Amino acid sequence: MGRRSPIAASGHVRKAPRCRLTSSGVTFRFLSSMFGVFKKRRRAALRREPLTVAERAIVNKNVPFVAALDDDDRKELEGLVRIFLAEKSFEGCGGLELTEEIKVTIGALACTLLLHRETDIYPGVDAILVYPSAYRAISRAREGGVVIEGEQARVGESWMRGVVILAWDHVKSDASEPAGGHNVVLHEFAHQLDGEDGAMDGAPALGARARYTSWARVLGDEFGDLSKKLHAGRPTDIDPYGATNPAEFFAVVTEMFFEKPRALRQRHPALYGELAAFYRQDPAAHAASVAHEP
Ligand SMILES: [Zn+2]
Repeated sequence: MGRRSPIAASGHVRKAPRCRLTSSGVTFRFLSSMFGVFKKRRRAALRREPLTVAERAIVNKNVPFVAALDDDDRKELEGLVRIFLAEKSFEGCGGLELTEEIKVTIGALACTLLLHRETDIYPGVDAILVYPSAYRAISRAREGGVVIEGEQARVGESWMRGVVILAWDHVKSDASEPAGGHNVVLHEFAHQLDGEDGAMDGAPALGARARYTSWARVLGDEFGDLSKKLHAGRPTDIDPYGATNPAEFFAVVTEMFFEKPRALRQRHPALYGELAAFYRQDPAAHAASVAHEP
């Protein structure tokens, strides 16, 4: 059973309905710019709304990285969580009744990846579907020109557009082991960041062209090393699931970056450096102070 899902195949992707423009281009541009102004204002108001005492208690319990944040960063995170909770729709599936704990925990973990960056707060995600535990989904694989279909248990899924799916018991058990190196919420939302440039391929939008060269070299080498070690039957400190493809590698090392930052910095300094530059955070510097990583 795969711990995490592969990225959904194109057959799963919800396509946005094509809209037919009936108004003039000028009217359309005016409306969309007005919409942008309203959105900005609404978000600015949400950012000023701190989390409640109960919501903070949930974050403290289930998202231990926040203990390392200074007041400004914490405020920024809370503002992002407020917007995330207001704009994303949560749906309980398989009989799960949604609670504040579920929404706030997922929101705070997802928004941890957005600190310090210009962000539109996962514009590709409309809905987060939460199952009580691992759910079964149809999987398809190609082998020698034959498509093999089967049922697969999944604990998380990230669609290129619209949806993230999570199993709540895994979200909670990952939260109870903050230095375990696994976090399904960080994993699935790393896929979303990766896909914001139009492709979930292990290379998120990095800005300057030089950054892509260095990213491809460092992550390509590490991905190659992981695959070689696995092939040779040698132990690896990076989750073997990362060898599935470059997109899974990025998601897996994102989990490690936040959950085992000191180990990652010590054993894979160049990889740590690339991720620290992308996420604009240095969790290894704080790991000892929150005592979440031995
Ligand atoms: Zn994945």
